[in-house]
Amino acid sequence: MPGDAFPTVTVLDHGPPDRRFDVVVLADGFGAHELDAFAEAVRAFVAELLATEPFGLLRALVNVHRVDAVGPGTSVLDGRLVTVDEDAALRLARRHVPDADAVLVLANREEYGGSAGSVACLTRHPWAAALAVHELGHAAFDLADEYGHEGRHPGPEPSRLNVTLERDPARAPWAGLAGTGCVEGGDRYASGVYRAQATCRMRTLGEPFCVVCAREIRRVLLLHARGEGRTAYTDISPSPKRVVGDRFDEA
Ligand SMILES: [Zn+2]
Repeated sequence: MPGDAFPTVTVLDHGPPDRRFDVVVLADGFGAHELDAFAEAVRAFVAELLATEPFGLLRALVNVHRVDAVGPGTSVLDGRLVTVDEDAALRLARRHVPDADAVLVLANREEYGGSAGSVACLTRHPWAAALAVHELGHAAFDLADEYGHEGRHPGPEPSRLNVTLERDPARAPWAGLAGTGCVEGGDRYASGVYRAQATCRMRTLGEPFCVVCAREIRRVLLLHARGEGRTAYTDISPSPKRVVGDRFDEA
């Protein structure tokens, strides 16, 4: 229903969208009588987001908008992967919130699942709020998964700044950052790839972000606060891998 306009509610309002990081949550597959459940799920997401640093401390830089879209579901379930037409979701979000910086689709499904490309997609599973913040890490901050179940990383060096093939902490992208090292496993591989700390929201849903991910999220939020945060999907590029001035200095 490309031309439809739906009620839009700003559930977390911290100021002008051109100087804030604006998250837009779209309903997908909800009937008019189910919008209370959608609103409740968005409240749970906001509570989880603000309980997760650095979003909590920097909450004054974040707006959250809810688009009460009604209509048949468009999400596709494949195992634990729940996806939508990302271009359609982006168009719908921007039609309602032109300054949308991150788009999250909440699919009216009970199964556990999610995904993130340029938009994050979730179901109404009880873990959805925790998973939503993880998927937002992918979609809006270009962070890699830090879990790894099996296999050796085939290379090349990942472009995402929270994982590396470098095993020497002094040469890792996060070298010099307090509390970091090189912990094996990440980017979905068990070995041959390293992350900065043992735990992170990009590895385990119940955990906070590691210091590397938190630093990148903070950087992007601050860019938005200065009015320099261009829309995450078009032209915010991932942080160059610098910190140390050696071969990771691609700036
Ligand atoms: Zn991390």
